[in-house]
Amino acid sequence: MEHFRVVIIGGGPIGIACALEAKQKGLSYVILEKGPIVNSLFNYPINMQFFSSSEKLEIDGIPFISKEAKPKRNEALEYYRRIVTSNNLNIRLFEKVEKVEASGSGFTVRSSKQEYSADKVIVATGFYDLPNTLDVPGEDLPKVSHYYKDPHFYASQKLAVIGASNSAIDAALECWRKGAEVSLIIRGAEVGQRVKYWVRPDIINRIEEGSIKAYYRSTVKEIKESEIIINTPEGEVTLENDFVLALTGYKPNFEFLESMGIELSDDEKRLPRYNPETMETNVPGIYLAGVICGGMETHKWFIENSRVHAQMIVDDILRKKAVASEH
Ligand SMILES: Cc1cc2nc3c(=O)[nH]c(=O)nc-3n(C[C@H](O)[C@H](O)[C@H](O)COP(=O)(O)OP(=O)(O)OC[C@H]3O[C@@H](n4cnc5c(N)ncnc54)[C@H](O)[C@@H]3O)c2cc1C
Repeated sequence: MEHFRVVIIGGGPIGIACALEAKQKGLSYVILEKGPIVNSLFNYPINMQFFSSSEKLEIDGIPFISKEAKPKRNEALEYYRRIVTSNNLNIRLFEKVEKVEASGSGFTVRSSKQEYSADKVIVATGFYDLPNTLDVPGEDLPKVSHYYKDPHFYASQKLAVIGASNSAIDAALECWRKGAEVSLIIRGAEVGQRVKYWVRPDIINRIEEGSIKAYYRSTVKEIKESEIIINTPEGEVTLENDFVLALTGYKPNFEFLESMGIELSDDEKRLPRYNPETMETNVPGIYLAGVICGGMETHKWFIENSRVHAQMIVDDILRKKAVASEH
């Protein structure tokens, strides 16, 4: 069984930041990533533009140069890929971690390909794998998706977009501009306040001029082959419908965290338990890094404020090693 001082689960921006830090501080490490490099970003909409400016997405002070102040998905893929390849980081792709178990003074990490032993484990698995579902009849129809990729697909189609935050609003605008007939179904009373400040006026104007039909304070009751039924303040409304984009956010894989023994808060936030000064969880030797830390509060952590986790974690590992060798 291969042994590493640190096994990093997840090759997103923050997993990569942890690997760079481990490498610089002389710790043997491997990143195990279940998809391609920065899998979450790879799965973002093809035209997606970050709300962060490029310097806020930088890791390890490596300059991120983008055409506009806020980079596009492709530029971010290029940036993180180049960091991995130019630094020759030890990353194993398309290798999913299935189980982490305590063994001796460390851990056994079982992936879809092999087993590893590790002194420490960093969990940097993000929150983009599991969508928040609507839990309504018809959600499993093939015309319903929780991920949006390319507006071309929806041209000349009747599209219902569910949600009021950045993903939903970007999708609604892009698809309308490519010729889809868009209905926007919003649970609250308005378009989300966190929608990018340069996009919000655009969607509000499109709604006001009637180009995009918005249903506020509305929820989906049922999805059928060629219809969607929604509950609105005026009563039930049935819309003709070809496709549904249910962009109602994502959540971390809590089961995976709990399977390692990481405790979650009892409330709806489901915050994992960790020491905010070291990022070590209630399971000694297992650390959390990146947006996974926020539980259901997926708007709390970004690349900008979580990239520091890498240094905090590696410093703590080295501190504990120094203390252990004194005894
Ligand atoms: C549409 C959208 C736009 C966003 N825009 C911004 C922005 O402008 N600025 C910003 O800072 N943040 C933005 N975010 C949030 C952003 O996704 C995160 O800040 C960033 O991806 C977090 O990096 P991470 O490394 O913590 O997690 P992720 O990038 O999600 O990386 C986690 C990785 O872990 C892998 N993984 C998961 N489970 C396993 C397993 N069991 N075994 C192996 N690998 C596993 C995943 O495949 C993934 O590659 C956006 C998010 C979305 C959805």
